[in-house]
Amino acid sequence: MRARTKALAGFTRWAVMRGATAAPVPPETVVDYVDYLAGEGRSPATIKQAVWAIGAQHRAADLADPTKAEVVRLALRRIARVRPGLTTRLPPGPYLRDAPEEGEPEPVRRGREAMAKMVSDYADPARPWELVMQGRGTCKARRCPVADLVPMIPTGLTWAEVTPRLSCDLCGAPADIIGLAGPPAHPDLGQTWLLLQKGETSRWR
Ligand SMILES: [Zn+2]
Repeated sequence: MRARTKALAGFTRWAVMRGATAAPVPPETVVDYVDYLAGEGRSPATIKQAVWAIGAQHRAADLADPTKAEVVRLALRRIARVRPGLTTRLPPGPYLRDAPEEGEPEPVRRGREAMAKMVSDYADPARPWELVMQGRGTCKARRCPVADLVPMIPTGLTWAEVTPRLSCDLCGAPADIIGLAGPPAHPDLGQTWLLLQKGETSRWR
């Protein structure tokens, strides 16, 4: 009962901030709340508990339960899949700044510019990019196509919003170095490389 009260208090605060009532709410509002909690780095268990509390509150008041809607079920499945990749809050990495540095290397300049761009911009099947991430733990660098990451995160996020939440999918350690490897800018060049976050060790394992 205490957990339900606490979960509901969080939802009510959020709803009031948005100028809405906490009950009755449409399923879309529950989905927005799920995305909000996921964006805050809450665990899937916490988010499920919050959704359960909203449903219980509606049922107790003889209101239609918005949490039984298909869109809510899909939202919960989405955050369950996000779990290994996007859970941790970190302070911004060294490349979250706006101003260019004197004589900064090309991959760093490109990475800095990419931070303001949407993750989905890098999922074009014609020009596929790969995310390369070194966690702070002992695991080797992890790679995944950006196209695989996009369906797991809320739409419209920039790299600056996503990189602080990246963590190792094996051990859950926060990201240390984050880079993007993409198609060559010219056919006779190698992969295009850009650095989103330099990290403390600056070394791939
Ligand atoms: Zn790891």
